[in-house]
Amino acid sequence: MTRPWTHSEKMALLSGIGTTGLVGLRRKTQSACDHPNAPKRSRNAVLAQLRRFIGNGGLSRGSWSLRRFSRETGYSISQLRRAQRALRQKWRRTGRRGSFLLSDDQVDEILEWLKHDYWDSKHRLYVCLWCRSAGRPHRAVGLCSRCYFRHRNRCVQLGLPTTTQLGLVKTIRASEGDISGSHAKFLDEVSRKLTRGCALSGEQLEWLVVLAPEAQT
Ligand SMILES: [Zn+2]
Repeated sequence: MTRPWTHSEKMALLSGIGTTGLVGLRRKTQSACDHPNAPKRSRNAVLAQLRRFIGNGGLSRGSWSLRRFSRETGYSISQLRRAQRALRQKWRRTGRRGSFLLSDDQVDEILEWLKHDYWDSKHRLYVCLWCRSAGRPHRAVGLCSRCYFRHRNRCVQLGLPTTTQLGLVKTIRASEGDISGSHAKFLDEVSRKLTRGCALSGEQLEWLVVLAPEAQT
């Protein structure tokens, strides 16, 4: 037989919505219960009661899941986690291993912080140019430590210099008098990137080799 929800239990549930996750709600309702040794309400019982109060999505009402925050703002999860660490925010969860829920205030604070935050402030980048993640620290040329080594290995493989590619682009420009439209566009693009001190993509490195076969060892 199911125990009917008492008024104080319902009040505890209501006051916890938006500030605590499912685990917290179960604890809150248990301590609000008038029966001294009453067991905790089951997860399903709490969720069902929440649905009765405020409809579906009760737990995440007035808050943002990390996934939704990422989807709607375009910031990657790793960027958001970095902001969390910097701001020392504590995010509540829907359960011990449940999804994170952020309050509107936390979301506002993170958005403000990310406006001025660069993963790599020298090149004004929010993520690594190669792996598009901000999970590892910036190493050099707009790349994280792992991608920096991948980039260097790729250059060596292709027979390209690892540091003086801008010189190579100039050499290609000088040696080829009749550079066609798409080649010229490509060379403009890689020069712009290299002038900024950023690494070229793997594809751009390969094209550089095609255009400068003499550069290969
Ligand atoms: Zn990377």
